[in-house]
Order: sequence, then C-alpha cells, then structure tokens
Amino acid sequence: MLTDWEIRREIVAFGKKVYEKGLVSATDGNISVRVMSDRLMITPSGASLGNLNTEDLVYADLTGQVLAGRGKPSSELPMHLEIYRRRPHVNAVIHAHPPFTTAFTVAGESLASPVLPEVVIMFGEIPVAPYGTPASEESAQSILNLIPDHDVIVLDHHGAVTLGKSLEDAFFKMEKLEHAASTLLAAKQIGGINPLTPSAVEKLEKLRRERGYGM
Ligand SMILES: [Zn+2]
Repeated sequence: MLTDWEIRREIVAFGKKVYEKGLVSATDGNISVRVMSDRLMITPSGASLGNLNTEDLVYADLTGQVLAGRGKPSSELPMHLEIYRRRPHVNAVIHAHPPFTTAFTVAGESLASPVLPEVVIMFGEIPVAPYGTPASEESAQSILNLIPDHDVIVLDHHGAVTLGKSLEDAFFKMEKLEHAASTLLAAKQIGGINPLTPSAVEKLEKLRRERGYGM
C-alpha cells in the first residue's frame, strides 16, 4: 500500500506524462487513485495535469463528499466515483482527450473492429460510450453499462477513460489506446483497414482469457 505522500507524487508524475504525451491539452483531463477501499484522491478542477502540485490534490469519499484539499475536485468526479463504486479492484482512473482516438469518434468511425493483435489481447473490444456533456452527471451516466466489463472506454466526441490496478496500468492503457488509433489512422491513409480474420481473433481471445487480461 502506498503512503499518502507516495500517491501524491505518483499522480503528479503521471499527470506530467499524460500532458507531455499530448493526451490532454491545457487544463483538460483528470486523474484519480483509490486510497483505502472507500476514498479517492483526485486532481483539482482547473489545474493542468502537466503542472500539478502535490498539495493541490483533493480527497473525497465514494459519495463525492470532499474530505480534504485546497481546491475543488475535478468536474469529472462523478465519472470516477461510478467506476470505483462498481469495480472494487480498480485502483486508478485516467480521463484524457487523446486526439487520434477522439478523432475516430468525431468522424463516426469505430475502433471496435479487431485489427491489432496486442490490442485484442489487452483490451478485448474497445467500446464507445454515447455522448454525454463533459464535466456533468451525464458523462458519468453514459459509461455506466460499460464499466463492469471494460478497462478502456472511449467517450463519443470527447476522449477516453482507462481503469487500472495501478496508475501506471491506467496510463499504459491510455497510451496503448492512442497508439492503436494513430496506427489505424495511418493505415486508412495508406489504403484502408483490414481487420484480422475471425480465426485469428478467436486465438487472441483465448490468449486473453488464459493470461487473465482485463481485471
Ligand atoms: Zn474531458
């Protein structure tokens, strides 16, 4: 179990990575980590993930009650709360606006078809949640049905949310999602996307089950 100080330092470090990787711009995006079973630490509203201070992080319980912290919690707190309430083994959540991933939803193109083997093994299918106004109860409601079975959820016209056993795990999922989207975009530009064959997908899904991916 990480100490309060270690969790703060980890959120600041991964906030910087998310920002520097271009997965968010300006003050977009938010990160939280579960602290004990029934509370979380989340990034504050209005702060840039690239430039967080350890003292600015906000503690809340899973009802959304703020327990400590200088600022206001991220406006996407309701989305984070719904995830922690429904997935007891999830210890970290990242919401970002990865541009290639988001562009696919803006263009009305799916990321769901099985194209890249490692993505099929790691994520299974990548679902897209219906559009909900960002930073409102609506965006939390839009992912409710997807939370139980998915660690990676794309938000229509908005971005993505990734769930991890640790913050590093959630970050790798976001990075991998965006890397996949940029590969698919390149493939479209070159000549088109050819999905894997059903028998190839079947083998990958078997591997996914055997290796216990997905939490
Ligand atoms: Zn957002």
